[in-house]
Amino acid sequence: MRKPIVAGNWKMHGTLESARSLAAEVAAAAGSTTGVEVVVIPPFVHLHAVRNALGESAVQLGAQDVSPREEGAHTGEVSTRMLRDIGCRYVLCGHSERRQYQAESNELVAQKFMAARRAGLLPVLCVGESFEERERGETEQVLRAQLDPVLRLGGPATFEKALLAYEPRWAIGTGKTASPEQAQDVHRFLRSEVAAFSATIADLLPVLYGGSVKAANAAELFSQPDVDGGLIGGASLIATEFMGIVAAAA
Ligand code: 13P
Repeated sequence: MRKPIVAGNWKMHGTLESARSLAAEVAAAAGSTTGVEVVVIPPFVHLHAVRNALGESAVQLGAQDVSPREEGAHTGEVSTRMLRDIGCRYVLCGHSERRQYQAESNELVAQKFMAARRAGLLPVLCVGESFEERERGETEQVLRAQLDPVLRLGGPATFEKALLAYEPRWAIGTGKTASPEQAQDVHRFLRSEVAAFSATIADLLPVLYGGSVKAANAAELFSQPDVDGGLIGGASLIATEFMGIVAAAA
């Protein structure tokens, strides 16, 4: 049985004070939620304050990105060790906004993913196609190109102690959610790609859906057999809405 996971990606939003109070609200509300792993993913500069605001709650901490390098003269970068040190358990690798605006290649994303794994963080590999790619029938080809460099570097055990997130680019921040059937089709495909290396690992692998998830559409998406929870953007910035999504995963 895979435990559902709901992770809130706060992206580049908020202030120190709003991050603290959002974390405290989520921590207080999540106290009564069992059976769902709840994760918050604030901007780097708010990680420390959010860690403190989460206190002893079961809510886990994640980061939005990480350097593929261990340490050294890499101005502006944040290492896996720094993330571990500050209390992160998860790290996003290859979010579509980084692929699109920071020109992160599939190869760079694979290096980040492997660095996170080596450090004992749980990397969340984000994959997804654009609207045009879907229209041209290229969805599986695009996803395979995003997965392959990671599998090549990591070998058969790549997705042991890791997660996948399917975030169709056309659904991110647009209000257009993939239908439950569209999400299920892609999630099944992703799991089968991993199963080609190891059926056991594929079976245990959490595959999250992201893209305009709200409390109102979450239950239907999460009821799909291969959808193991969500990676939430906009709706994770409002504690009550986010906790509504968490409740839908329980
Ligand atoms: P939205 O939920 O705002 O569409 O964002 C999804 C996302 O990118 C989460 O990583």
